[in-house]
Amino acid sequence: MTRRIPAVRILATGGTIAGAAPSPRDTSGYQAGALPVDALLAALPPMDDVRVDARQLFSLDSKDALPGFWQALAREAALALTDPAVDGVVLTHGTDTMEETAWFLHLTLAPAKPLVITGAMRPATATSADGPMNLLQAVQVAACPHAARQGVIAVLNGQIHHARHLRKAHTHRVDAFDSGEAGPVGFVQDGYAGWLSPPRRTTPRFAPETPLAPVDILFDYPGISAAMVDAALRGGARGLVWAGYGNGSVSGRIEPLLREAHGRGLAIVRASRTGAGRVGVPDPGGFPQAAGLDPYKARIALMLALGAGTPPAALQALFDTLSYE
Ligand code: ASP
Repeated sequence: MTRRIPAVRILATGGTIAGAAPSPRDTSGYQAGALPVDALLAALPPMDDVRVDARQLFSLDSKDALPGFWQALAREAALALTDPAVDGVVLTHGTDTMEETAWFLHLTLAPAKPLVITGAMRPATATSADGPMNLLQAVQVAACPHAARQGVIAVLNGQIHHARHLRKAHTHRVDAFDSGEAGPVGFVQDGYAGWLSPPRRTTPRFAPETPLAPVDILFDYPGISAAMVDAALRGGARGLVWAGYGNGSVSGRIEPLLREAHGRGLAIVRASRTGAGRVGVPDPGGFPQAAGLDPYKARIALMLALGAGTPPAALQALFDTLSYE
């Protein structure tokens, strides 16, 4: 009996992986999303153990990705995942907001097949571009049936990160991504995907078409202007993630303004600007805490929660649960 060769569909959205610069020396002066996905495929070695087809969905610099882009991508990814001819899906994406997109997809999709996101730190035209190896390894992981048990994952620089912990932690190095204290869930080497973490949940928390409520993030800092909170309210925010000091503390001058804004209907969640650790001090005033979610991930969770009509009293339990995804 002949073994069926796995089929992987690449959905291209742009980013540095499809970036082009005038010179191979340029690693920062380039246009993201300039090259079509066929050019990315042409840089891959021949593969006889996986069949690949590709669709160009967007040609975007991910710094310009808006929430509507997450929803459109979730729809396209869901379509590809339900195609019986497809065994796994790879998304090529800019690195700047990859963590937001991956987290949104994690919260809204329950991929029963591998769903892998990848990108690159150097444009495709650079000497020693990292895109071709990242794409090759993403395809190899997407062809691995075990990858489906992890939910939404990212493959970058030989490491596999889960959407829950993925973060861009460096401005330019090819090892720019990590998973903070949690560490990567796996690695890929010469086509072998190794798993360092047990399987995870694959139930979506929200429907992909859930309306996304406008939510801002404000970072605390000594001397922060009181006008910031007001600006969020006047800008139409329904929610605010407060990236506070340390364990989510709020500048004393600002706290009454937050309480007042809360009284005027603004949902407020306390997170931390530190970049690691859980916000866990009980809040007598009753603002829910982001628990282990960083401000960016807490914001997306709050956008979905408010859009889905989650009652205020249920927010803390939601953040606690999402923390442990
Ligand atoms: N600005 C680019 C983007 O996010 C950066 C990258 O892909 O590395 O699309």
